[in-house]
Parts: sequence; structure tokens; C-alpha cells
Amino acid sequence: MSIALDVRGLTVAYGSIAAVRGASFRVETGEIATIIGANGAGKTTILNALCGLRDVRAGSIRLGDRDITALPPHARVPLGLAQVPEGRRLFGRMTVAENLEIGGYARTDRAAIAADLDRVLALFPRLRERIRQLAGTLSGGEQQMVAMGRALMTRPRLLLLDEPTMGLAPQVAELVLDAVRAVNADGVTVLLVEQNAYRALEIADRAFVVESGEISLEGSGVELIDHPRVRTAYLGYDA
Ligand code: ATP
Repeated sequence: MSIALDVRGLTVAYGSIAAVRGASFRVETGEIATIIGANGAGKTTILNALCGLRDVRAGSIRLGDRDITALPPHARVPLGLAQVPEGRRLFGRMTVAENLEIGGYARTDRAAIAADLDRVLALFPRLRERIRQLAGTLSGGEQQMVAMGRALMTRPRLLLLDEPTMGLAPQVAELVLDAVRAVNADGVTVLLVEQNAYRALEIADRAFVVESGEISLEGSGVELIDHPRVRTAYLGYDA
């Protein structure tokens, strides 16, 4: 397996306070990896550093065989990195089609864009039915699918997902996580930050626990589901 993402000694600070402190982790091509941790542990900061929205104080980020640590966000997208941000950030007064097209805006090959749109609509058939509807009128789960679809329109190799099930009813959250699996089965490596640690660990090949900005545990999803500290701290089991 080749390495999709190799993060070494990542340190990210807000002013004098380091929110991420020397985090090192790797994701292999084809995997679903997940980062779990308490509120404020540093998960979003890690994702934002990966896509260039936060300056890195120390350490390195490699995407495949490229060192991307110093690249601006827009230069990372054509290398295969896309993020679905927390809160989805759709254009509510634009249609589903228009929101998806924004994902392909930097590209000029109309035929390839059309093929990618077909692929997105095959992954999320519900969006085909809603294609002319304003994004702001969709349900939360459908909006999440549009946000994922928009990211997929950039043809990522690695998709970063920040809390995709936030605010969704349990059954809808399941649909979204099914969609994450479908995207992965379609050949996209996934790095998922998810509040529902149990479900995230269940679908993850590889998992990392972040505590106070440091990676404190690492293993397969199944291993961490069985880990005593994970069970008490993140899965709600009694000690
Ligand atoms: P959550 O689950 O609440 O989103 P998280 O694990 O994603 O939490 P981060 O949002 O990465 O955590 O925050 C990590 C730490 O950095 C926290 O202590 C937070 O208060 C701090 N922090 C985050 N954003 C900023 C900011 N813009 N300015 C200053 N401190 C920040």
C-alpha cells in the first residue's frame, strides 16, 4: 500500500497557544482513517492545517510523494486534497447543480466535469432528484451529500471530512456514513473527524485519538473500539 498522507511532528498554534503539538500519523491509500477526540482536542485544527487554512509552526505534511507543508490551499486541491468543512458551507440560494459545479470551477475540461457530475449523482441518487432545487431548501443529510459531492468534483485522492453527521438525526447520520463508505469504495481515501466515535471507529481501517493536541493512541478501528481508555472516555462505557 502506498502512503496517501504522512504527517510528521505537526505543530499548529493560535498565538502563543499550541493547539496541535507534534502530531505524527499516516494514512494509507484506499483507507478510511478517523481522528476522534474530545471537544477542543485539536481535530479541526489538524484538518485545517492539512488543507492549508492554518499555518504550520513545525513539522511536515506529505500528500503522496509531495511535501505540501508550505503550499497555499488552492495549490493543494489540484494535487488531490479536498475538504468538506464543518457546517457544510453551501450556497443556500444556488441550486444543487450550481453548488456541485463550483467544485469543478478550476477545471476546464467540460467532458471530464460532466463525467464527474455523473459519478457524484450515481453515488448520491437523491441529489439527481433535487438537482434544480435550491441547496438551502434541502434536508441536512441532503446538504451534507451536496457538500461531499462538491468536494468530489475536484477529483480528490484524499477527502477530509469534518463532522459530517453533526446536527443530523440518527437515521440520516447513517445515510451520510453510508455515503462516506460509498465514496471510499469508489477509490477515494478518507480522513474523517466524527463526533460519533463508535460509528467512526466501526467504519475506519485506521484510527487516531487526539488529546490536548497530541496523538495519544493509534490502531485499527476495531482495536480502538476494544481499548479500555477509548471505551470509557469516548464510547460512554463505565470504567
Ligand atoms: P470540536 O470538536 O469542538 O470542533 P476540535 O477537536 O476540532 O474540537 P479545535 O477546534 O481544533 O478542536 O480546537 C483546538 C484548540 O484550539 C481548542 O483549545 C480551541 O479553543 C483552540 N482554538 C480553535 N480555534 C481557535 C482560534 N481561531 N483562535 C484561538 N484558539 C482557537
